[in-house]
Amino acid sequence: MIWDSLYINAKIATCDESTQGFGFIEQGAMGVKNKKISFVGKQCELDGKLTELAHDIIDVNGRLITAGLIDCHTHLVYAGDRSYDFHQRLHGASYAEIARSGGGILSTVNATTLADESSLYQQSARRLESLMAQGVTTVEIKSGYGLIPEVELKQLRVISKLAKNYPISIYPTFLAAHALPITYQGKADEYIDMICQVALPQVAKAQLARAIDAFCESIAFTPAQITRLFECAKNYGFDIKLHAEQLSHTGGTNLAARFNAISADHLEFAREQDIQAMKAAKTTAVLLPAAFYFLREQQAPPIDLFRQYDVPMALATDCNPGTAPTTSLPLMMNMACVFWRLTPEEALRGVTIHAAKALGISEEYGSLRVNKFADFIIWPLEKPEELVYLINTPRPDMIIKHGSPLPNMTI
Ligand SMILES: [Zn+2]
Repeated sequence: MIWDSLYINAKIATCDESTQGFGFIEQGAMGVKNKKISFVGKQCELDGKLTELAHDIIDVNGRLITAGLIDCHTHLVYAGDRSYDFHQRLHGASYAEIARSGGGILSTVNATTLADESSLYQQSARRLESLMAQGVTTVEIKSGYGLIPEVELKQLRVISKLAKNYPISIYPTFLAAHALPITYQGKADEYIDMICQVALPQVAKAQLARAIDAFCESIAFTPAQITRLFECAKNYGFDIKLHAEQLSHTGGTNLAARFNAISADHLEFAREQDIQAMKAAKTTAVLLPAAFYFLREQQAPPIDLFRQYDVPMALATDCNPGTAPTTSLPLMMNMACVFWRLTPEEALRGVTIHAAKALGISEEYGSLRVNKFADFIIWPLEKPEELVYLINTPRPDMIIKHGSPLPNMTI
């Protein structure tokens, strides 16, 4: 036997880097050996008898195979929920009134601070399972609801424990400047100093994060404050990511590009010069349609400029209790097409190869190519555009992670 397994009679959307589209193979086959893809191509190109090529032959009966989906921007580790904010807002309360009555981001910070580690783990695990059930095999998870180092570390430990216990690749990010804790109100510069001097060294020492992220916005932190944070983070070798230009233009995208960020995220208010800077820095644009929808935003991200400058566009759920209470990455593809006129090809690449680029892991993940990890999904569909067109209904028939089918998924 040459390979561990061979999937035949498949329709395959490789989303390979060498194509711009789905990379579609009508009568395809895929071989797996030692957790990696050993063959992907037309079935007629297989050399030899099927039974001599692999130990297990799996006939997928004409169904669609895509790479495992990658959710490259989530905040899924938190306690509590914000349904009461939602309720209040629909009864006419303003943001300020909701904040005064104990809602808003600080209510999530409170709940996350009060939850013990096992409760935080349990609540977060449910969301992770829900993402996985919709075909996600790699996920980025940020801290950012602790604000003080002790609670940020608790969140990061929960992320690490999820990574140990679930058959999914987890990319951990320390969201180091998200909001000001009560004790630092009006003292943002002092807070950044504290993060640089206390939190960053602890997170680095415990190896609990691969990237540093921040929220650059008029209601959060200024470019000057985030520049200080990133200068410090670079000394520890962290990747850089940034929430930028979501609600207004503050210069965050340009700042992210100056630090060669792997991604800049949201970007509704990004301008042409920002996108030129992203192109030069090879920074991926992460677009987040759920927050756009939930906040009833009007300003769409500059999709045509991303196309014009060939800046890769990734899509993610942004799973968080305040502005994106969702765990459906397929739904994000549909939303991005409906709201912003992405093509179905761009949408699928946005949750596969471009999402891998947003995490700096595209050498090993994100498309179906020989020598990448064998992470893929068998869908009860025949065409890749069906996956984008259906509104929140696609569910995998089978999920294969590092070459092994996940249990509880039947073919
Ligand atoms: Zn976010």
